[in-house]
Amino acid sequence: MQEISGLCTRLATYLEPTHINQVRRAYYYAEQAHADQKRRSGEPYVTHPLAVAHILADMRMDHQSLMAAMLHDVIEDTGISKTALGEQFGETVADLVDGVSKLTRIEGSSKAEAQAENFQKMAMAMARDIRVILVKLADRLHNMRTLDVLSPPKRRRIAHETLDIYAPIANRLGMNALRMELQDLGFNAMYPMRAQLISAAVIGARGHRKEVVEKIQHNIERCLQQEGHDAEVIGREKHLYSIYSKMKAKKKSFHEIMDVYAFRIIVDSVDTCYRVLGAIHNLYKPVHGEFRDYIAIPKANGYQSLHTVLVGMHGLPIEVQIRTREMDAMANSGVAAHWLYKTDKKSDTTGSQVRAREWIKGLLELQQSAGNPMEFIEHVKVDLFPDEVYVFTPTGEIIELPNGATAVDFAYAVHTGVGNTCVAARINRRLAPLSEPLQSGQTIAIVTAPGAQPNPAWLNFVKTGKARSAIRHFLKTQRHSDSIELGRKLLNKALLGMNSSLEAITGQQITELVQNSDDKNFDDILEDIGMGNRLAYVVARRLLNGVGSGEHTLAENSQTPLMIDTVDGLMISFAKCCHPIPGDAIVGHLSPGKGLVVHTEGCKNVLDIRANPEKCLPVNWSPNFAGEFLVDLRVEVENNRGIIATLAAKITEQEANIDKIVIEEKDTGYNIIYLTIAVKNRVHLANVMRRVRAITSVLKTVRVKN
Ligand code: MN
Repeated sequence: MQEISGLCTRLATYLEPTHINQVRRAYYYAEQAHADQKRRSGEPYVTHPLAVAHILADMRMDHQSLMAAMLHDVIEDTGISKTALGEQFGETVADLVDGVSKLTRIEGSSKAEAQAENFQKMAMAMARDIRVILVKLADRLHNMRTLDVLSPPKRRRIAHETLDIYAPIANRLGMNALRMELQDLGFNAMYPMRAQLISAAVIGARGHRKEVVEKIQHNIERCLQQEGHDAEVIGREKHLYSIYSKMKAKKKSFHEIMDVYAFRIIVDSVDTCYRVLGAIHNLYKPVHGEFRDYIAIPKANGYQSLHTVLVGMHGLPIEVQIRTREMDAMANSGVAAHWLYKTDKKSDTTGSQVRAREWIKGLLELQQSAGNPMEFIEHVKVDLFPDEVYVFTPTGEIIELPNGATAVDFAYAVHTGVGNTCVAARINRRLAPLSEPLQSGQTIAIVTAPGAQPNPAWLNFVKTGKARSAIRHFLKTQRHSDSIELGRKLLNKALLGMNSSLEAITGQQITELVQNSDDKNFDDILEDIGMGNRLAYVVARRLLNGVGSGEHTLAENSQTPLMIDTVDGLMISFAKCCHPIPGDAIVGHLSPGKGLVVHTEGCKNVLDIRANPEKCLPVNWSPNFAGEFLVDLRVEVENNRGIIATLAAKITEQEANIDKIVIEEKDTGYNIIYLTIAVKNRVHLANVMRRVRAITSVLKTVRVKN
C-alpha cells in the first residue's frame, strides 16, 4: 500500500511545501469521505486516489491536479457537493473534480463503445481544463493496472472502452508512454491468450535477436562517433499491442514483424538530426519511399522525429527514428511534458496549463503552414477548443451539434418529424425551455404532441441549418395552404353575394380568369385573396363577367358572414387592440400580407377601417369554435392584504388561467388590478367576472377593450 508520506517525499523534489500540505490535506479529506468504502481488492478506497496521484506525480503535475486526483471520486461516490469542495480547496480544484466526475458519469452510457470517435470528442469537449483529461487518464490507468479483481465480463468492458476511447485520447494528446501502457493492459484483458502467446514469442525471439541488435547498434555508434556526433543510440522493442495490431491490420506474420530491427537516436539539436540522417544513410542503404520528415511537418498531435528505413547486413530491414531530447520528451509525454519539464520552479501554477494551451495553438499554426489544417482540425482543435457539443439521446446515441444549439436543433437532428411536433424538452430529466443551449454530456429527451406545429419564434434561437430550413419550409407550406383555404372561403362568399357560388363556376370560367391574370394558376389567385393582396369581390365579378352573365353589383351582396372556426390558422388573427373572444360581435379586416384580422365591432380602430368598406367583411364565430383567448380585466379593489390570492383563487376555480397581473397602487384607499386571463368565450368570461364581482372587497370589474 502506498503511503501519503511517500508521495509527499516525491513531491518535495518539485513542489513548494505549502502546496505539498494542500495535497496532504486533500488526501485526509478523501480518506474521511471514503472511510466506509473498500476497493474490490479489499483495500481501503483511498488507496485508489492516492495511486492516481502517484501517477500524476510521475508526470510532475502541479498541486491542483494532485489535489483533484485525491478528490476525484468524492462527488460521485460520497454525498459531498462541488460547492463544499470549493469552500475547502478553492474553485479550481472543485472545477477539476467536477469535470472528472462528469466524464465518469458518461462512461457507463450504453452504446458509448459503438460510437468511440464521438465519445472521445465528447469527453474532450466536456473538459474545459486539460488537466481534467490528465487526471481522468491517470484514474483510468490505475483502474487498468488493478483490473484483475473484476469479473471477466466487466474486465472486458473496461478494457474495450480503454482501447477505443482512452488510448486514442492519450494519442491525441501525444502521450505515447501512457497510451502504450493503456493499450498493453487493455490487450491483455481483452485477449489474454493472444497476449500470452505474443509475449512468449517476443521473449523467445529476444535471444537470437540480441546478437544482431548489438551488432547494428555498434555499427551505428561507431559511424556517428567517426563523424563527431554526440548521440545516444537505443535499440527498441515494439510493445505487445502494436505487434498485434500490425499482424492484424497488415496481415503479417509474427516473424515478419519481429525481423524488423528498430533503433532510436537521440541528439542535442535539430541540425544534428539531419546530419545524423546523412551519416546513417551513408552507412546503410535507405529504402526508397520510407523516409518521413516529422520535424518539418509534425504529426497532428505534435510528434516530431525523422523516420527512415535502412537495409542492413543480410538484407535485414532497420527502422530508425532520429530526434532531439526535447522531441523525445514530447513523444513520450505529449501535452504533459509542459509540467514534466517546467524549468522555473516558482512559476505560477496556471503557467503550465497556459503553456499547454499555447502548445495546442502552436500546433494549429504549424499544421496550417504545413498545408493540412483539415487533419489537424479533425484531431486536435475540435477537441480542445470545442465548437461542438455532444449530447445523448435517451437511448444513449451521441448527437453532435454546433455550440449554442438548443433542444429544437436536437429534435430536428433526430428527425424532422420530431422537430415539427416538439413541445417541450427534458435535459437530464429536468423540464427545460426549448431555447436553452445544450451542453456536452447531457441527455436530451424531446416531448412531442400530435398536431403540434413549429413556432416561428424558434427561428430566433436555432443554430443548425437543418432546423432553420425545416421550420421555414413548414411555415411557408402552412401559410400557403392556409391562405388558399381562406381565399377560397372569401371568394365563395363574394360569389354568394352575386347570387352565384364557387360550385356554380365552371372550369372554363376559371381557365379564362387565370389566362387574363398574372398568376400561374387558380391556387395562386386564391392565395392572393387570402393574403389580402386581391379583393374577393373583384375576382368574383371578373369570373362572372368573363362569361357575360350580366349585372352583378355590390349592392346585391347578401352579406353572409364568414364563419371563423379555428384559432390555429395562420391567415386569421385576432386584433391585439381589442382582444375579441367567441361571442363578441366581430368584424373582419383584410390587411395586405397579414390575411384576415378579426376585431370587435366596437373597436376604435375599426372606425378607421370602415372608411375602406371593400376591405371589411362580416365574420362570425362558428358555433363549434374551440380555443382559448386572452382578455384584459380592470378590477378596482379596497386595500386588502389577501386580495390577490382571493382573486386568483376565484378565477382559477372557473378554470381560467391568469396570464398577467399588474397592480396599480392608489393612496385613496383602493387599488386597481389589471389582469390578463385566458377564457374560452363570452359565457366563460361572464362567469369569471360574476365570481370576481362577488368578492366583497371588489368595487368594480370591467373588461378592457382598446
Ligand atoms: Mn477513480
